[in-house]
Amino acid sequence: MNSSDGPASRPVTLLAVRPHPDDESSSTGGMLAYYSAQKVRTAVVICTGGEEGEIRDPDLSVDRSRLRELRTQEAKNACEILGVAELRMLDYRDSGMADTPANQHPEAFVNAERSEAACRLVRIIRKLRPRVIVTEPPGGMYPHPDHIMCHKVSVDAFQAAGDAQAFPDAGPAWQPDKLYGVAQIDDGVWEGLVPRFIAAGFDMDWMERRQSHYRGPGPETATVALDVGSYSEQQRLALLAHRTQISPESFFVSLPTELRRLAFATAYFVRLSPPCGPGEHEPDLLYGLDLTPNTA
Ligand SMILES: [Zn+2]
Repeated sequence: MNSSDGPASRPVTLLAVRPHPDDESSSTGGMLAYYSAQKVRTAVVICTGGEEGEIRDPDLSVDRSRLRELRTQEAKNACEILGVAELRMLDYRDSGMADTPANQHPEAFVNAERSEAACRLVRIIRKLRPRVIVTEPPGGMYPHPDHIMCHKVSVDAFQAAGDAQAFPDAGPAWQPDKLYGVAQIDDGVWEGLVPRFIAAGFDMDWMERRQSHYRGPGPETATVALDVGSYSEQQRLALLAHRTQISPESFFVSLPTELRRLAFATAYFVRLSPPCGPGEHEPDLLYGLDLTPNTA
């Protein structure tokens, strides 16, 4: 056997588990581009096919029955832009917004049996062997049923993956070291930037409307504040790859370069396991890990 194929050459892997196609680029795009650039092997699991997504580009005529296929391709294109090495789909159906008829669909992620969904994710974790997993925070970054479910299933799978007695047919046990939830990007910087957004021609009323909704844990709770400003252009291009979801006129992809860098300078994450102490901070998601390739 060639020595480069052996376990000593196995790269350090970071896995992001995301609810829908485009969530990999929005909440975790800067982070994925950052670690891909650091030669960390990055991987993404997307829980659903995004079948319930609104088509935001009015010029796009889309056959909705093909939306799953189209959105999967968009996620592949986005992952390529972000330098993501592995993309896996968990193959559930998008549950739609809370209290909509889509919630009742038998294949909707929200109706999945927890252990069955965890088994699918455990199989992927044992195959890809990530050291760190990033997912939704408890309650989701916003209260969409799939975001909430993504968190629950990630916690179940994180706990089960290293237990050889759990899901014995899903591959040899592998225990990732740490689990994180994404936290809000809004750290007060945006408020300071509003006059510049308005001067650049953007209507910012939506920001006030957005502030009245729950949007997950705030940056003050974060264990890690990652400087991803240098990757904001890569993140923009990854978002644009989601053509069915993101209009080229959208605020998030049409900000002038310098403003975008400032607005998306920092990505925040809360460590969920091992639990973090009050006020605990880490310089990055891989902090404290022995990064010599694991030979287990
Ligand atoms: Zn989503």
